[in-house]
Amino acid sequence: MRGRVLIVAGSDSGGGAGIQADIKAVTALGAYAATAVTALTAQDTEGVRAVHPVPLDFLRLQIRMSLEDIGADCVKTGMLADAVTIDAVCDALAGSGLPLVADPVMVAKGGARLLDTGAVETLKRRLMPLATVLTPNLPEAEALSGMAIPDLETMQHAAEVLMTLGVPAVLLKGGHLEGPVVHDVLATEEGVEVFESPRIDTRHTHGTGCTLASAIAAGLAQGMGLREAVIRARAYVAAAIRSAPGFGRGHGPLDHGV
Ligand code: PLP
Repeated sequence: MRGRVLIVAGSDSGGGAGIQADIKAVTALGAYAATAVTALTAQDTEGVRAVHPVPLDFLRLQIRMSLEDIGADCVKTGMLADAVTIDAVCDALAGSGLPLVADPVMVAKGGARLLDTGAVETLKRRLMPLATVLTPNLPEAEALSGMAIPDLETMQHAAEVLMTLGVPAVLLKGGHLEGPVVHDVLATEEGVEVFESPRIDTRHTHGTGCTLASAIAAGLAQGMGLREAVIRARAYVAAAIRSAPGFGRGHGPLDHGV
């Protein structure tokens, strides 16, 4: 086993997204997954019914104990729920010097808010400057940049705009745009690169964002460069969607093969 990832995210009782997806992706890619749970959610493939936050002291303790004993080669953050949780996580991670894949989770596919509306500013001010790469989907990038992003050209511009907020790299995911091809834009200090793949016609896409970010984190933890980690992670997610088991009445989980 190579590479340790500390996952700081919310639990999805349905097992399709959140911490559960993160652990599966990191494990399937041969890295080690440790976790600090930010919140519990009660949810199924149709939506989130309830959210139960974890006390901040307990969250801080999970992060500290994990870093001090097992250690980590990369951190991945997902659902952070609210501003005080973002502050607690950033305080605990600042100074660690670890690469950070920050997935700015805001709203679940079913419409439930996983981040308070008022916390977007805190996310920009605290989390973005700590991140190695930010992995917003289109609505998240719109909320963070304040721009409407109707097409691929604007995606490329928006990714660069997000970099001006202090994050060295942005992977802007274009799955929310319509069309037979899905484009993701990777903006780094070296320039902008567009990745494309055929859209897979399925409703079973629950947890794709969590999975992609965790797969990137596994790659960075294993010593890959960002571009290489993104390419492997995109291929991993595509394969996991293709073999999704079809569980549940709504957006079903992926198949991680573990
Ligand atoms: N639940 C948790 C705990 C999550 O972290 C996320 C996504 O990041 C979701 C649910 C939403 O997943 P999806 O939008 O794929 O349904």
